[in-house]
Amino acid sequence: MTAPKLVQGYEVVIGFETHAQLSTHSKIFSRAPTAFGAEANTQACAVDMALPGTLPVMNIGAVERAIEFGLAINAHIAERSIFARKNYFYPDLPKGYQISQFEIPVVQGGEVSFFLEAGKETVRKTVRLERAHLEEDAGKSLHEDFIGQSGIDLNRAGTPLLEIVTQPDMRSSEEAVAYAKELHKIVTWIGICDGNMQEGSFRCDANVSVRKPGDPLGTRREIKNLNSFKFMQQAIDYEVRWQIDQIEDGHTIQQATVLFDPDTGETRAMRTKEDAADYRYFPDPDLPPLVIGRDWVERVKGEMAELPRVMAERFVHDYALPEYDATQLTQSKAVAAYFEATAKACGQAKLASNWIMGEVSRRLNASEMAIEQAQVSAAQLAALIGRISDNTISNNAARQVFEGLWNGEGEVDAIIEAKGLKQMNDTGELEKIIDDVLAANPKNVEEFKAGNAKALNGLVGPIMKASKGKANPGQVNALLMKKLG
Ligand code: ADP
Ligand code: MG
Repeated sequence: MTAPKLVQGYEVVIGFETHAQLSTHSKIFSRAPTAFGAEANTQACAVDMALPGTLPVMNIGAVERAIEFGLAINAHIAERSIFARKNYFYPDLPKGYQISQFEIPVVQGGEVSFFLEAGKETVRKTVRLERAHLEEDAGKSLHEDFIGQSGIDLNRAGTPLLEIVTQPDMRSSEEAVAYAKELHKIVTWIGICDGNMQEGSFRCDANVSVRKPGDPLGTRREIKNLNSFKFMQQAIDYEVRWQIDQIEDGHTIQQATVLFDPDTGETRAMRTKEDAADYRYFPDPDLPPLVIGRDWVERVKGEMAELPRVMAERFVHDYALPEYDATQLTQSKAVAAYFEATAKACGQAKLASNWIMGEVSRRLNASEMAIEQAQVSAAQLAALIGRISDNTISNNAARQVFEGLWNGEGEVDAIIEAKGLKQMNDTGELEKIIDDVLAANPKNVEEFKAGNAKALNGLVGPIMKASKGKANPGQVNALLMKKLG
């Protein structure tokens, strides 16, 4: 464990609550559809509107998705969990309570782990999960488009959510964002949530507190509904500075729920925080306990696709990749498939990994593209790697070929030919260039012979230049050593 990074002498403590909207077609306790963007109140049935006499019926699809999530994060799936009523008044909650899980959630424990940059190194960080429970979403109050009035849209009411709660294990905004990205990867990978943050399918609440190292946990404030990774980082950074300023000015932090305003970059208190007691939780008499037998869990397990961490382990094992590479390459199914296709076609897994994490991602990032839109296919990348390892081209030349491939200038060999990038494998020609460069740089030769190893760089550079980058660097080195004794 590395010591936590301090901010002005304070340790930052963060815990996350994430609402992942489950990708079922119908709602959690009714048959109404869940599709986003329909005209207001066209997707709310009698159950969602809480008309008298209606009763909730559990959607099995939502339960299966919760089981899949539990399996993906190595959690305990409760054999018997309980739905509870969380009572509060809000205009977009017609029942006057939300059906959720309280004392006994369906998913218990588990962990999410990911890599973090720490200076030049990367370290693995593990965040423990406390629980994940099933619950229904509320409707929406609409204050726009009305003249002095507000409206209620109940389309979202009853949409299935999985609320995923961590232990207060994160120690910086960077860790928090990395956790959120990893969680996002997991839920989209296993397909239980579409992950669309703009549409609110994946909403994070960040609980933030600060303390002097060694002190007990400080009082937290909860930043609600962070719906982009960029805002998440800004909001937490602002909140941390704000809390430290308050404490330094002699104030105490009041537990509160706050909102982040992207326009001002500030967090603002929305309400003081309710305690569990304020919600008067009690078991919902309309729903029996949720019973999940071992056989059900086993069946779901058997039907699930290979998990990212399992796939990463396989990459380490089958392709002899470092753990870090394997984790990077399993950031999405598409990236993993691209890697496997390249590695299989060229037989050089580590080179394939280097190219995908290097040149390919750089190019994708620069044009804000996903791997599916890569302009160089796995087969082309494999062919390119083949030409590096059979010494036809240098690494430098390979980068030019890659650019050519990306810009649609043809296939690997044709581009090498057209750009004249073939490495110089004719020793005679290379020796002549080296002799010329040695003759033109007597000072470097002297210094090298006097024991200054760095003087060699002053020779290699001009040689590579004179060969128009076509000399094989290994060969250049070998010849230089021979000539300089
Ligand atoms: P609630 O549901 O009322 O918000 P919980 O006790 O379930 O409260 O905690 C919510 C989240 O807050 C959890 O992710 C937990 O890890 C985190 N948390 C609890 N105490 C602190 C603290 N002092 N600082 C930062 N995060 C905290
Ligand atoms: Mg909370």
